[in-house]
Amino acid sequence: MKHTIISLACLSLSVLLIGCGKQPDIPDPTKVSEAASVTESVTENTTIPDQEAIHPEFTEIASTIETSTTSTSEAEENTTIPACAHEWKFKVTKQPSCTATGVRTYTCKNCGSSYNENIPFLDHAYVISERKADCTNSGSITHTCKECRHTYTEKTQPALGHAYGELKTLINPTELLPGLAEHTCTRCQFTEQISLPKLNPEK
Ligand SMILES: [Zn+2]
Ligand SMILES: [Zn+2]
Ligand SMILES: [Zn+2]
Repeated sequence: MKHTIISLACLSLSVLLIGCGKQPDIPDPTKVSEAASVTESVTENTTIPDQEAIHPEFTEIASTIETSTTSTSEAEENTTIPACAHEWKFKVTKQPSCTATGVRTYTCKNCGSSYNENIPFLDHAYVISERKADCTNSGSITHTCKECRHTYTEKTQPALGHAYGELKTLINPTELLPGLAEHTCTRCQFTEQISLPKLNPEK
């Protein structure tokens, strides 16, 4: 192989010299035909995959041929060999949460092929807190997720309003000035003051 490369190099050099007008002493027709046969043998050699490629260009050619040959045979194998009777085993590769989907990876224990499947969101893990309706606030149930703090509130009952007791007069009204009274809520002890109208002098 080394010999053929060197011969080829010599030929190239000769051609170069001819091109420059500096012809070698005696142009030998046998040499030319010999060189031609060398070229052919080199071309043939490039198809042999296990050769020690010395010239980088040849290495490239050889590897290209090798690669294309391999990929072709692989493609043929894929079409002719019957499909693997897959036996899938799965592993949870990402746990789902209430804010993100999870991932389950199936792998065939025979051929190693794998694919992913999404695991749906988990339900929120709500903790319930109930507020009973009172005089001024409506009743509600608040649901808060202990994982992500998502929260929503349901109204259960409108505000009750104050349950006032007896109206007590603090200042009696006169014909000139209004009076003042107050009453207190029996539930929350809120006290409201009310002004009493002036007395009508005609009464
Ligand atoms: Zn398989
Ligand atoms: Zn949540
Ligand atoms: Zn009240």
